[in-house]
Amino acid sequence: MIVTIDGPAGAGKSSTAKEVAERLDFRYLDTGALYRAVALVFVEADASPTNKNADALLSDCSIDLRFSTSDTLRVLIGDRDVSDAIRTSRVGDMASQVAALSAVREALLPLQRDIAARWSRSRGGVVADGRDTGTVVFPAADLKIYMHASLEERARRRMQEYEEQQTSASFEDVREEIRARDEKDRTRDLAPLRRPDDAVVLDTTSLSFEEQVEAIEALIERAKAGTDVSASH
Ligand code: C5P
Repeated sequence: MIVTIDGPAGAGKSSTAKEVAERLDFRYLDTGALYRAVALVFVEADASPTNKNADALLSDCSIDLRFSTSDTLRVLIGDRDVSDAIRTSRVGDMASQVAALSAVREALLPLQRDIAARWSRSRGGVVADGRDTGTVVFPAADLKIYMHASLEERARRRMQEYEEQQTSASFEDVREEIRARDEKDRTRDLAPLRRPDDAVVLDTTSLSFEEQVEAIEALIERAKAGTDVSASH
């Protein structure tokens, strides 16, 4: 079973998808981590985000997602574990720039499908999150969710994450970073962020984390039972 969760930055997609996957014994496919890994390659090479640079840099490295023996998702560039190095705001910003390049999207499309095929053979299903997982990557997904929340709430959540990582940032800067990222993701020509027509919309502004997880678990149960999920929200 393939479940997709798309939506803007900070809507709670990744933490929710990770928890849902854990509870249901699914695998969590963090597609943003792949764009961030590509971005890290650009940042470290001090390269500007162009298709030409993407062709040159990507032909030289292999990006993949694996699970460690303790079942934690690891992001790899070759043999190097970059799971932590990709979580900076510099890499996040570069990720949304490289994500607009055709060379990058073309390289990551088969990779995302391969990973999902590999993982769904060993688990009951895959929960993928990103910007175009329901529209482009898995158009025939069994369940598509579009998760969003107000800009203020998303900035508040991102601040909390930064505090946990002991990264200092002002609320205004974080809100602006998210707003700018949304705009880039929504207005790009290739695979822009948009709600898939057949997605269930989940506004998480006033939901707790547990409520978000339970709402998605319930949608998955309904989809598994073949019930029309669009009727539930
Ligand atoms: O979700 P996350 O913040 O890790 O994603 C980083 C960036 O990667 C996003 O801002 C977006 O530009 C890009 N992305 C994308 N398509 C996806 C996942 C992420 O364009 N499926």
